[in-house]
Parts: sequence; structure tokens; C-alpha cells
Amino acid sequence: MATKSKKKTAAKRKSAPAKPKASKPVKAAKAGKRTHAAGTDPKRVAAILAKLDEAYPNATCELKHENTFQLLIATILSAQCTDVRVNQVTETLFKKYPDAKAFAYGTPSELELEIRPTGFFRNKTKSVMGASKAILEKFGGQVPRTMEEILTLAGVARKTGNVVLGTAYGIASGVVVDTHVLRLSNRLDLTRNEDPKKVEQDLMKIIPREKWIQFSHQLIWHGRRVCHARKPKCVECNMESLCYAKDKTV
Ligand code: SF4
Repeated sequence: MATKSKKKTAAKRKSAPAKPKASKPVKAAKAGKRTHAAGTDPKRVAAILAKLDEAYPNATCELKHENTFQLLIATILSAQCTDVRVNQVTETLFKKYPDAKAFAYGTPSELELEIRPTGFFRNKTKSVMGASKAILEKFGGQVPRTMEEILTLAGVARKTGNVVLGTAYGIASGVVVDTHVLRLSNRLDLTRNEDPKKVEQDLMKIIPREKWIQFSHQLIWHGRRVCHARKPKCVECNMESLCYAKDKTV
């Protein structure tokens, strides 16, 4: 049978693990580790935006297109594919399929062959045909101008909606979060989230609305040219002094 003092000692042992858990954030802060406020401080965000303007004053969408409809199709095809490959495909695709009518009422098996090099060609064929039909039948032949409406098109999620509304219409309805924006936003400590929807919400809170469109293009350009997923070229980066990413190479 346990004595009173033994019972007290056992009780202390049970409660012991709680202490280090409670003290972790304090220790992290004292050790100078990242805090939420550090990355999203308005002055730091403004400095990052200024550096992006300095490096990429003319950043824009790199998908070749001659009108809004072509941009929509190219953006749908760009899922899990490089812009370079999409541009190669659309160079001939848009000659054979010049408008929404041609896509909507084309032959799926023939369209699949054209789209095949961009990957996921069966789904993409369904998407471009479905989106084209809806544009003709529900939107009078015009790509819709609101996020709510554009999201009703087959194959269109917020990323595509933001690319089209921002690039073609100059409408800032959100921030494009592709693989580059996702990676760089985390490296630059502008978000602690990995889910694109949450990252977009985080960015919309800290980036002024009038910068949303350009910021997306600039971050994508930086991700393609300098801040690569593997071995970012930090020595060439004009934001190096503002960046404390764990995988910095300088
Ligand atoms: S310093 Fe390196 S990791 Fe940081 S943004 Fe520049 S290229 Fe990317």
C-alpha cells in the first residue's frame, strides 16, 4: 500500500510533462525563432513588394493568348504542366479551334490528341469542352467577369479564375496561388499555411488589393527565374536581406 509521500511523488511525476509544453513558445521567441508577426509586418511586406517591383516591373502571365477565351483555355491546360509546353500546344490548337464554338462542338477524341502533351488530357478535354459550352449557352459567348460565375465553368478553380480575371480583365478578385506562389510565400514567411485556399486568404490580408494581380505575376516570375524549388539562387536574389528561409543557399 502506498504511503502519503509516495502518492504525492507519483502525482508530481504525472503532471511533470505539462511544464515543457507550456514553455515552448516562450523558448522559441527567446531563441529568435520565426514568429507570425515577423514575416507579415507591414513594413517588411512593403519592402518585399518594392523589391519585386524593382526586379520584375513588367511581370505578366506567360501563357500566350490573343483574347480572354484563349487565356482561359490555356490556363485550364496549364494544370500540372509548364507554360512552355502549353504554349507549344496552343500554337497549333488555337489555329484548329479558333473559338468557343469550335471547342464546344469538336470531336472529343480529336481534341484529346491535341491536348495530350499537356498531361491529364482526358479530363482537360472534358473541361475545355464543358467550359466552352457553358460560355456559349449560359454567358452569351463571353468569359464571365466575376469569380462566382467563372467558378461555375468546368475545370475552373480559384487559381484559374484569378489568372483570367486579373490578366484579361484587370479585376483583382484574389491572388493566384500556384506552386511558385505557394513555395515563395512560405519561404518569405508571408504565411504559415500549405493549403492554397488558406494561403490566398493570408496573402489577401497583407497585400494591398491594388497589388494582388502584379504580386502574383512577380512571385511566379521570381519562382521560375531565381527562387527555384531545389537550390534557389539566393546569391542572385534582391530579397536576400529580407529572407530567412530555412533552405536559403547563402
Ligand atoms: S533569398 Fe533565396 S530562398 Fe529567399 S526568396 Fe531569395 S532566392 Fe528565395
